[in-house]
Amino acid sequence: MITRKSAEQIALMRRAGKVVAEMHEECIRAAKAGATTLDVDAAAREVIDRRGARSNFLGYHGFPAVVCTSPNDVIVHGIPSADVVLKDGDILSIDCGAIIEGWHADAAVTVPIGDIDDESKRLIEVTRESLEAAIAQVVEGKRLGDLGAAVEGRAEEAGFTVVREYVGHGIGTAMHEEPQIPNYGPAGRGMKLREGHVLAIEPMVNAGGPETELLNDGWTVITRDGRRSAHFEHTIAVTDHGPEVLTVP
Ligand code: MG
Ligand code: MG
Repeated sequence: MITRKSAEQIALMRRAGKVVAEMHEECIRAAKAGATTLDVDAAAREVIDRRGARSNFLGYHGFPAVVCTSPNDVIVHGIPSADVVLKDGDILSIDCGAIIEGWHADAAVTVPIGDIDDESKRLIEVTRESLEAAIAQVVEGKRLGDLGAAVEGRAEEAGFTVVREYVGHGIGTAMHEEPQIPNYGPAGRGMKLREGHVLAIEPMVNAGGPETELLNDGWTVITRDGRRSAHFEHTIAVTDHGPEVLTVP
């Protein structure tokens, strides 16, 4: 069942989205060389508390933090830790969400720590662009395959690959609702978008091959070849005037 949200419901999701944008801002401020990924989590927790929101990550299938922190070859679902110290030249994906009055938002961003190499810069830029290309397709009448094809097209023309095992999702009164949103095509196939659909689109783009590996902690997903990966995500509503990104300040 794919639900369509009313304008009032989308307004609540917009409020949750603003909290997530603020969490990102504070996490990015905290994510500097010498800090730990647990410091990044603490920055996000402060925003959650200040805004009277709840975390949809904390306790999710037992997840112990409000943010997933995924450095370098970690694709997604990295667990914040006092033992993971960020250093100059790293990249870090920061993924978090918030709940306001029962309504969810979810977004991710990848940032440089200090000075990063050119390939990492390009990986971050291309992954951001692949999300933007998908968002441009979030229009009534388009199909899910159009979104995936947009992501895949941008990533592959840059010589990168998209992760296939992990996908985006519908979002509303739960963080993960139907439908699943793959980061690959074919265009013109899959569910048709309608006004009121709200989607979390989240390309995960690898510098090397697309293969993934799950670590023994049951959460951390890494690239099998050890190359770097970037991740961007927004929560977006289909409206009568086109896509509305909800996870912005
Ligand atoms: Mg998500
Ligand atoms: Mg997310």
